[in-house]
Amino acid sequence: MHTDPAEYIRNAIRSVPDWPSPGVTFRDITPILQDPRSFRVLVDLFVYRYMRQRLDLVAGVDARGFILGSVLAYELNLGFVPVRKKGKLPYQTLAEEYTLEYGNATVEMHTDAVKPGQRVLLIDDLIATGGTMVAAAKLLQRLGANVVEAAAIIDLPELGGSDILKETGLPIYTVCSF
Ligand code: AMP
Repeated sequence: MHTDPAEYIRNAIRSVPDWPSPGVTFRDITPILQDPRSFRVLVDLFVYRYMRQRLDLVAGVDARGFILGSVLAYELNLGFVPVRKKGKLPYQTLAEEYTLEYGNATVEMHTDAVKPGQRVLLIDDLIATGGTMVAAAKLLQRLGANVVEAAAIIDLPELGGSDILKETGLPIYTVCSF
């Protein structure tokens, strides 16, 4: 490969203007997923970063965090925990509500998803305002987990989420930014 892997991944992301609403540029990772080489470069970036971190679990955020998180968990020989949108999990749950630009959203986890002291990597596709990651990290921490890092493919630094996450003391890692 001639380009830096992070640059290669950044170049594979499709930017869709005015979706899902006017003024929003959606950063679409499906071109990475559908190309075997890009998908492998992406997964391997995370595998190499986390292979010596003595993690216990990967927690992936609904829904694109499931795709990356479950492959990563499998490659690292770890368990996978889904952080889901409200009302999707069948067993006992705990919930965290957070603010969106218009209204609120809630993420949920099963109460037995994590044991106290377990070292967990939290992963999603993108950090915008940081609300989703902060809420997901709170859920894990309420169960006593040690959230080792919050990781995403993409950071949108102008929206301030990565700064907010840093202020909460949570280490973060993103492959590229827009
Ligand atoms: P936030 O909670 O504001 O950090 O938003 C992050 C969540 O919303 C992630 O699960 C992303 O998948 C999704 N998201 C927010 N903004 C975008 C965007 N511009 N492009 C793609 N996904 C986005």
